[in-house]
Amino acid sequence: MNFLFERFPNLEKRLAHVSLGKFPTPVFPMNQLETQLGECKLFLKNDGVSGSLYGGNKIRKLEYLLGDVIKKKAKEILTFGAAGSNHALATAVYADKFNIPCTAMLLAQPNADYVRQNLKKSYASHSRLRHYNSERAMYIPLAARVIHRFFSKGKFPYIIWPGGSAPLGTIGYVNAGLELKAQIDEGLLPEPDKIYVPMGTMGTAVGLAIGLKTAGLKSQIVAVRVVEAHMGNEQKFKRLFQKTIALLRSCDNSFPDLVLDQGDVVITHDFFGEKYALFTKPGMAAVELMNKEQGIKLEGAYTGKTLAALIDIAASKGLRNETILFWNTYNAIDFSDSINGVDYKDLPVAFHRYFEEEVQPLDR
Ligand SMILES: *Cc1c(COP(=O)(O)O)cnc(C)c1O
Repeated sequence: MNFLFERFPNLEKRLAHVSLGKFPTPVFPMNQLETQLGECKLFLKNDGVSGSLYGGNKIRKLEYLLGDVIKKKAKEILTFGAAGSNHALATAVYADKFNIPCTAMLLAQPNADYVRQNLKKSYASHSRLRHYNSERAMYIPLAARVIHRFFSKGKFPYIIWPGGSAPLGTIGYVNAGLELKAQIDEGLLPEPDKIYVPMGTMGTAVGLAIGLKTAGLKSQIVAVRVVEAHMGNEQKFKRLFQKTIALLRSCDNSFPDLVLDQGDVVITHDFFGEKYALFTKPGMAAVELMNKEQGIKLEGAYTGKTLAALIDIAASKGLRNETILFWNTYNAIDFSDSINGVDYKDLPVAFHRYFEEEVQPLDR
């Protein structure tokens, strides 16, 4: 069900799209966690089950990005991320489904168990993995070098930038905003006062902001920054918002010329910790609380830090009977069976360290 195409039929004619997942994703009350936070109505939107091979927020973006890859008959994909990137994994899994070769250029990151699982699954999905031994996100010069090397061999891969957060990928979350509106109209939840969502490369939060506005919803987005501030910030948010609207309007000029109003989105910077994918104590306490109260698995790099922000507000200011939606962006599909046979030693040597070195202290 694509609510965006239903509402703006011209978009369907102009935008390539391939169905990868199962939508709408479920939304349900979290009564147990709610009693812990007090004075609120708490719901969860579970994008963890967005796809049957692998879930999470990247699937919505990839429906448009891979649609474009297929339309353009690109012979291969080049994408970027950190070593444990959920985006690089999602791209590998779904590119493999269409037999499209995929290369992932991955930067160093703090070690964690999920990094090991993701690397094995990417490998099992035939992704060509390349490691860059730098934690600094010097994407532009690094990426330029890698792309140049492809070009010099006469190869022109389809490039998917980190997180899939080009305007085209962001459209996946515009649709998600309209999907939420339909679920509200169905009576599955009241219109939220606030929606908590992690903010990395920002496509998720930006797309949602556009989708909510298009749907006429007034919910405020609380975007919890989980990447370095030079990657995710108010200015970049605005730019991606404008570029995505421009793309939508270039495909269908009846799409509203929206502007971001003050109060539509609040970016929270206080739960990032020290660096990307380095877990924090409040984040891991949030992961544990969610698991204990609702049996839902979060993780330390994105969703735990996001729930920590909500827990902190609940404890310090109280939630004043607000309706709050927590948007789970983390994969909930268990793929452990599919990597049982993978030996890490089959991966390129540069990745062995993630299996041979200890995981970060808060992941033990
Ligand atoms: C990539 C990712 C995010 C961040 O989404 P952006 O669109 O990059 O802001 C959030 N949660 C999880 C689990 C992710 O993998």
